[in-house]
Amino acid sequence: MTSAHEQRLRTYSELAVRIGLNLQPGQRLLIIGPIANGGASLEAAPLIRQIAAAAYQAGAPLVETLWGDEALMLARFKHASSDSFSQHSAWLPDALLTHVEGGGAVLSVYANDPDLLKNEPVDLVGALQQATSRSVMPFRERISRNQTNWAVIAAAAAGWADRVFSELPPAERVARLWDAIARLCRLDQPDPLAAWETHLAALAARRDYLNRRHYTALVYRGPGTDLTLGLPPGHRWVSGRSDSQSGIPFTANLPTEEVFSIADKDRVDGTVRSTKPLSYAGTLIENFSLRFAEGRVVELTADRGDAVLRQLIATDPGAARLGEVALVPHSSPVSQSGVLFYNTLFDENAASHVALGSAYRFTLAGGEAMTDEEFAQAGGNRSATHVDFMIGSADLDVDGVLPDGTIDPVMRRGEWAMADG
Ligand code: ZN
Ligand code: ZN
Repeated sequence: MTSAHEQRLRTYSELAVRIGLNLQPGQRLLIIGPIANGGASLEAAPLIRQIAAAAYQAGAPLVETLWGDEALMLARFKHASSDSFSQHSAWLPDALLTHVEGGGAVLSVYANDPDLLKNEPVDLVGALQQATSRSVMPFRERISRNQTNWAVIAAAAAGWADRVFSELPPAERVARLWDAIARLCRLDQPDPLAAWETHLAALAARRDYLNRRHYTALVYRGPGTDLTLGLPPGHRWVSGRSDSQSGIPFTANLPTEEVFSIADKDRVDGTVRSTKPLSYAGTLIENFSLRFAEGRVVELTADRGDAVLRQLIATDPGAARLGEVALVPHSSPVSQSGVLFYNTLFDENAASHVALGSAYRFTLAGGEAMTDEEFAQAGGNRSATHVDFMIGSADLDVDGVLPDGTIDPVMRRGEWAMADG
């Protein structure tokens, strides 16, 4: 790769360490990848080495990386006995927990083939995903409580680039994916870190507006969608930057274009249609529609990936309910790029979305300190899984319902419609 690309990796690493994690002097850093894949892809090594350098320069005493390899994963599907897929790592769940409990930061680097497991038996894929999710649930819960500063970024890799840019000659795909990641992470700006400060301030202004309105529900209307989604009392809208419980401001997702909150797990009614494919457990789920009654999915249809979607919803009782609601304008840079990334980190920033599964504790006032029962009582969903899917488009209207029942336009034809300020 060229030195221009090396320079770009250096800038990206600075962004991840300073704006993403805001890594503090003396803080350890653990770099991981999707846990079901074992860790960060070996193809991300050139980026991860730069990140380690940036982290040490920021004062990290130790940077560790948990590596994963997709070929090893496929070897398990090919050769391991089919009754062994409920087995998970004996040491990893504790290691992750020990790192977070010790105040370390966590960076997850995604560089994976979204269709890796599409030819594997759906019950084995489901068993592996469930066993892994359950085993690392205590770690996930701490992340969801923002116990420490954490961030998710992406790196281009061949399997992923093949999926995203299949129409290009194979030799050009990875470079093209790097270009897309760089643009959407504002690395092409003259001063990327300053551009991020401006962007994060604009997101914060939307967030503050929504927090002042105290809506009791949002009403969605679009093609195939007619949904009322309750917002519990004390819900909090959150955008780009959050504070960890240890008081460190950090930006969990690079890129990020969303303003998000908590859905009331018991007050979601009506039908919602997906507007982009969902990549889950190495499978693509396309053109699906979910009908909710009193918060629970009671009916679903999908043009593709129907069985995997049913597996997802059967993970546990919370997987059939919503935990997150997020608003993203249709004009967001990710949407404008016209690229479908088959990856939530990017695609969720192209469209308004909701997530099946666990709610983030910090999206409810006092949520971090609540017991599981108190959180559930307040409308917070709890699950071993959290899977975003896109429901926004240029045809989506969203209304906010005020406590006195009046209706406020929040989005019209996919764009912010609320008054500024
Ligand atoms: Zn989201
Ligand atoms: Zn989410």
